[in-house]
Amino acid sequence: MRTILLLMSLGLVLVSTPALANLCNSVKDRTTTTETKTDVDLYEDLFPNTPDRGNRTWNEIVLQCNRQRDTKGNDVAKVTAVPGNSPDKQLLKARDLDPKVIRGHYNFFGKIVTQLKYVYILSKQNGVWTMIIPYRPIINDVVPDRIDFNWSHAGVLYDATQVVDPSRNTEVKPSAVPISSTLCAAPTYFPGDAGKYDGKELYQRDPENKFISLGKIEYQYGKNGGVWSGCRVDRNRDLYWRPDSVRNEVIKVKPEDWILDNFVRTAEDYWTIPNVFQLKLLMKGRNESTFPKSTLDLLEDGDHLTIRFATKFLPYGFNQMYKSNIIQFNNFSTMTTDGTYWHEVGHAFATDDEYPNNGEVDNEKGCYHPDYKAFSPRTYQMCEAAVSDKRTIYHYLAVSRYVTKQKECDQDRDCSSGEYCNAGIDLKKNQCVAKKADDQTCDIAGGGHQCKSGYCKLSRCYTPNSVPMGETCYLNDACKEGKCSSLDGTKGTCVCQADADCGKGKYCNAGIDATKNSCLALKSDNETCDIAGGDHQCKSGYCKLSRCYTPNSVPMGETCYLNDACKEGKCSSLDGTKGTCVCKSDADCGQGKWCDAGIDTKVNACRPKRNKGESCAGVAGNDHKCKSGKCSGFPKYECK
Ligand SMILES: [Zn+2]
Repeated sequence: MRTILLLMSLGLVLVSTPALANLCNSVKDRTTTTETKTDVDLYEDLFPNTPDRGNRTWNEIVLQCNRQRDTKGNDVAKVTAVPGNSPDKQLLKARDLDPKVIRGHYNFFGKIVTQLKYVYILSKQNGVWTMIIPYRPIINDVVPDRIDFNWSHAGVLYDATQVVDPSRNTEVKPSAVPISSTLCAAPTYFPGDAGKYDGKELYQRDPENKFISLGKIEYQYGKNGGVWSGCRVDRNRDLYWRPDSVRNEVIKVKPEDWILDNFVRTAEDYWTIPNVFQLKLLMKGRNESTFPKSTLDLLEDGDHLTIRFATKFLPYGFNQMYKSNIIQFNNFSTMTTDGTYWHEVGHAFATDDEYPNNGEVDNEKGCYHPDYKAFSPRTYQMCEAAVSDKRTIYHYLAVSRYVTKQKECDQDRDCSSGEYCNAGIDLKKNQCVAKKADDQTCDIAGGGHQCKSGYCKLSRCYTPNSVPMGETCYLNDACKEGKCSSLDGTKGTCVCQADADCGKGKYCNAGIDATKNSCLALKSDNETCDIAGGDHQCKSGYCKLSRCYTPNSVPMGETCYLNDACKEGKCSSLDGTKGTCVCKSDADCGQGKWCDAGIDTKVNACRPKRNKGESCAGVAGNDHKCKSGKCSGFPKYECK
């Protein structure tokens, strides 16, 4: 990790002060404390293999700075930097230890502003430590559907033409050459992009080499900067990996899988020390099935460190990072070398960079300082990235954190906000756990503190008056309006209880089964409504004989179910069946007309009054049919 980038990413402006160095002030005089020496004694006790220990003084320097900058450093030192044999110290020497998630923060470069989280799982079996680092890998294909290999990786991968029997991925032919000489002998441009780099220097290209579809890609970091090249292949092409340059066996693999598997393999190989320490990288979405479920269950959302592998030459002179930031989005390139992975995975042990910035040899806080030379710091991975020596002081720093309190608690206030203390029955194993969202279960008695909302009832977390109509509830109290359709803490939905719960234009359809209440649109005239108490279902507010209606609203000749609905006259139907508004008397018909009630009173109609001589026949009372108001009567029945 480069200091400048990290600080830039945090919004700090570097003025013309000397570049930061990366070891703490307390070791500038190359002396260390008694506590540190006691701590390193324990290290030597736990990691007896001398060659992997490197230099005693450098180990003290590294450890002293690490304890200072680790937010859990004091907790660890209380156990490891105190003489004698405490029970916690014995714990570190135990043959077997249950998996435990170690979480903390590390102040890189000694600065709070550059603090980063560390998370890993530690366990011990038959005296061998296992450390699992959870990652979430993403191939960020800047150039779509392409994977770029660095030149050394391209030297151990072959295409199908070089394999004796590609369908059986057997072995390479005797004269086989790797993809660096076949697929990547030259560049192939995307259609229409041929010649786009003609006449340009390598530093004038874009770092993606976006015009190149396949084959050799190149870039230079400025006129005088380093020249880099890579091998671009189709993401879907079958490749054949030759793990051992002496043997001819090959393994068929897709480019992306090889990149991610190689990251895991190379980091695990470097950091694992047989019979002492095993490193495992957990790759979310890729290799989780190789871990026990009980181990995976220890992890929470956000514990995984996201790493992005881009298909391009990374910015800032091919800078690669333990953790991405807003200035540089991609941690790695698919062209990142194995040695860089060793170093960057080393940061996940919560270890600092020891090298100085800008290669300043004389900076007394950097491992290149001449006064440190006798301690051989450049055989240490965090001083000299990609060095092949192993230095178990880093392993010790990681495993010594097993003695830290990790979410153990006696009460809620021992936990961070958003967590509660899960006291349970076995008080020894109390853990801070994340507070629960609404609808998650909580303890029926006193469970409120387990809920984000602070409210628990009938074993469910809830926020009072929060759930909109139609959404999930377990309790009446959770509903914003109305009530919960379920009873006694079982799952239901918020339903209405009264018309007022439904808003304008709707009514609450309570029905017989009050658990299925729902808000329905108010009904128009002539739609059906409940025969008893149906008024509230109608827009008009009137229901009679199971029909909505607006009193005195329907003009003559239009549909009605009730007399009351007709503006004048009456409804031709009876008892709520469909009819039309008809006249009842002449007054209903207007000027010049009379109401023909007839025998069948259901078909009353307004008719024009008749002229003199026209028929006015009928049972009785026929005068009103004539314009003159006089009907002759028996026998002719003519208007006079
Ligand atoms: Zn670094």
